[in-house]
Amino acid sequence: MSAPQFTVGSRAEILELLHSPVRTRDHASQLVGLRGTVVGTMRHGALALLALEGDVDDLPCGIRRWTVHPDDLAVCAFPVPAHGSTGHYRLGLSGTESAAVQHAVPPDAAVGLCGESARPLPVCGWSLPFLVTAARACSECARLATPDVGSS
Ligand SMILES: [Zn+2]
Repeated sequence: MSAPQFTVGSRAEILELLHSPVRTRDHASQLVGLRGTVVGTMRHGALALLALEGDVDDLPCGIRRWTVHPDDLAVCAFPVPAHGSTGHYRLGLSGTESAAVQHAVPPDAAVGLCGESARPLPVCGWSLPFLVTAARACSECARLATPDVGSS
C-alpha cells in the first residue's frame, strides 16, 4: 500500500475521512466530497494541506484550509490547469474586507498584473494561488494570467 502521489498544486477531492487528523474528521460530514488544491504538506509529506474551493463563507466553520491524509484524497497528479489556477501567481487582495478583489500577483511583487497594488495573503508563511475562476477574481488579472483566453 503506497500513499497516492500528490504535490503542491495538485487538485484533490476528499473521498472519505478515515485517516486524517481528528480535527478534520470531526467535520467529515461537511468535508467529504469537497474539492481543493494542495497548497502544502505537513509532517514530511505524511499529510496534505488542502485549500478548499468555493466561497469561504460556505465552507465548514468558515475555514478554507484543512489537514487531510493523502489516503483520504482522490488526487489529480497533474497541477491544476483545468480549473483556473495559473500556478504562477499568488493571490493578492485590494479593497476592503467585504468587497475585496482578488488579483494575480507575480512572485516578489506587490502589484497585480492589472497594475493595482494588491496585498498578498500572508497565511502561515505561504501564499494562496490566484484562481481565475474565483468569484471575486479581478477580470483584468484573470485575462492577463491566462494567455490562451481570447486567442481563438
Ligand atoms: Zn487585478
